[in-house]
Amino acid sequence: MKADLHMHTTRSFDVESTQGGKSAKQLLDLIKHEGKVQVVSFTDHDKLSKKSDFDYASNNDLIFVGGGEVSTSSLGFKQIHVLVYFNPQKIDIGEIQKELNNLMKGRRVMCASYVKRLIELGVFKPPRFQRRQLIQENMIVSRAELAQMLTSRRYTYTSHRFNDIHKAWEFLGGQDFRNIQRQSTNTKKLCDIVRKSEGLTILAHPWQIKYRDGTRINLDGIERLVNLTGIDGIEGYYPYHWWKDEISPDQSKKMNFEIREWASGDPDFLITGGSDFHRNTNPRKTCLPGRTYLPHEHTIKLLERLGYDI
Ligand SMILES: [Zn+2]
Ligand SMILES: [Zn+2]
Repeated sequence: MKADLHMHTTRSFDVESTQGGKSAKQLLDLIKHEGKVQVVSFTDHDKLSKKSDFDYASNNDLIFVGGGEVSTSSLGFKQIHVLVYFNPQKIDIGEIQKELNNLMKGRRVMCASYVKRLIELGVFKPPRFQRRQLIQENMIVSRAELAQMLTSRRYTYTSHRFNDIHKAWEFLGGQDFRNIQRQSTNTKKLCDIVRKSEGLTILAHPWQIKYRDGTRINLDGIERLVNLTGIDGIEGYYPYHWWKDEISPDQSKKMNFEIREWASGDPDFLITGGSDFHRNTNPRKTCLPGRTYLPHEHTIKLLERLGYDI
């Protein structure tokens, strides 16, 4: 039994159907058709998978693990992505969702002045009713919402359409985006909440984690972070990511291997993995659904920990 436990649907802010992104159903149909993996999870940014995903997958003989990918932060680090996994049959998603919603509120950015500036620059054209709402003092939206607006046809002038979310961020970087007040979801806090709700937390694509000064984390740093947060496991099967040309496929293979070696030192510490699929136009095949997968023994271990009957 193999698993792809890291995939994004069009529910993610950086996935659009017009650019090869897939809806939950389309993705499940594809996985069923290709037959490369039998266990799947959707890990959309800051959103948990739905009961309907579980039902549709089950009807297609796939084992579905409830999931999500939450952007968090810890002192001294840049963004840390945490994968959340749960068994939709055993736990009430509502409870995790409620806690997540609370965390999300804290993550929202105050951006009234910022949105005003974007309108002045001719980038933004929010619908009239929203325009009023958006530029009210203390109006808060999340970075993800802002990103979605910037890449959406509805909100952006043709001359400033960002096909790619990273281009939009780049543009924003030059516009004092960093100066907007915002609060982040704390990594440890998220891990505590998910544990209380009987879910599991996994450190996503660990070698993408950087310190504030831009240096990349190493194994010692990862160990400290794991001890600090009490996170349940780490991604040890992950493809070379297509949008960051910083790490070669060979280097990433080596890093995967090192991380798995290190993680296997503690038999209770989980190793997971998946393709991190975002869209079909992705030039690297290892990022397509099921092409980077978690082998049998690790898949079974995760399912057992989540209380699946297998
Ligand atoms: Zn991520
Ligand atoms: Zn991801």
